[in-house]
Amino acid sequence: MNHYDYLIVGAGLYGAVFAQEAKKAGKTCLVIDKRSHVAGNIYTEEVEGIQVHRYGAHIFHTSSKAVWQYVNQFAEFNRYTNSPVANYHGEIYNLPFNMNTFNKMWGVVTPAEAKAKIEEQKREAGITDPKNLEEQAISLVGTDIYEKLIKGYTGKQWGRPCTELPAFIIKRLPVRFTYDNNYFNALYQGIPNGGYTAMVEKMLEGIEVRLNVDYLADRENLNALADKVVYTGPVDAYFGYRLGALQYRSVRFETEVLDTDNYQGNAVVNYTDAETPYTRIIEHKHFAFGTQPKTVISREYSAEWKPGDEPYYPVNDEKNQELYKKYAELAGKEENVIFGGRLAEYRYYDMDKVIESAFSCVKKEFGNE
Ligand code: UDP
Repeated sequence: MNHYDYLIVGAGLYGAVFAQEAKKAGKTCLVIDKRSHVAGNIYTEEVEGIQVHRYGAHIFHTSSKAVWQYVNQFAEFNRYTNSPVANYHGEIYNLPFNMNTFNKMWGVVTPAEAKAKIEEQKREAGITDPKNLEEQAISLVGTDIYEKLIKGYTGKQWGRPCTELPAFIIKRLPVRFTYDNNYFNALYQGIPNGGYTAMVEKMLEGIEVRLNVDYLADRENLNALADKVVYTGPVDAYFGYRLGALQYRSVRFETEVLDTDNYQGNAVVNYTDAETPYTRIIEHKHFAFGTQPKTVISREYSAEWKPGDEPYYPVNDEKNQELYKKYAELAGKEENVIFGGRLAEYRYYDMDKVIESAFSCVKKEFGNE
């Protein structure tokens, strides 16, 4: 039986970066995943000639040149720029919040007029030092935008009122006083031609991967295969939920092939009212400027995670952060185990941050690359 330097639990982005760098450093790795495929939640599969983002849409964006150059070794990226639109009871607004949004909402034309409107609404709401997502949102964009474009969407997405959510979640979105619908401020952005799965497969080239292997169900035997473990699953599951379960949001996708070439005219349409049961509809072909005769759409339904579901988003409120801190302490004491990635670090990481986190771990393990 082979013995490896590293057993990497999870073939998602963190695991793939670690494996690739470990290989470069002359180490041997075995990558395992409980799913039947690699690439974790960035997995894409082809349907009707269209790359479908099976676990939710992923748009690669980063301001790090090192990260951008790194991913470009494994895929060619297209020029897709994310600009979702919000549908509020049939009214369409541009996202992120920018002059186009302000113009549609209030008829204002200049940045000064938009700023004055926001200031007035913020003052009327009496917010000076925002303490939660609601107050943060109103202080950034005023009450009208909060009511129409944030309150309902966020309530559905997180299953909690905005007053009980941390302010940082809304700070992910730019607020811009220019007529610029680019959702991200990042310097580099795009989607890999041929999908994310092909990109991750390329990263894992020459590395042994075993699929349909559940680490937690066979931990002792699997640990015996390597000197060290890189664990990228949920940190609370690793410890058998012994301090209690961390909360996650899960997402259910209703995916349909439609016999039309263009269903909604945009890759992402957010339904920002509270009544529509789904949060957004993704039309996958528009991520790659597809011209196929059919189209594939996914409606996203957000739900509280329960055992058996896929965890997607950590709920980084105070209660869960406290609990996570305790798990992180336990993790720190675990010899020869590295915990990394969105689930093991319980962080709302974007893809580039996952890669940076893996880079910093690699640096510690193997020295300067
Ligand atoms: N958000 C919102 N309205 C929108 C889009 C986003 O209120 O139309 C808020 C919501 O709270 C969401 C957060 O902004 O959870 C972050 O959105 P993002 O698009 O970054 O979420 P992701 O793409 O990671 O699901």
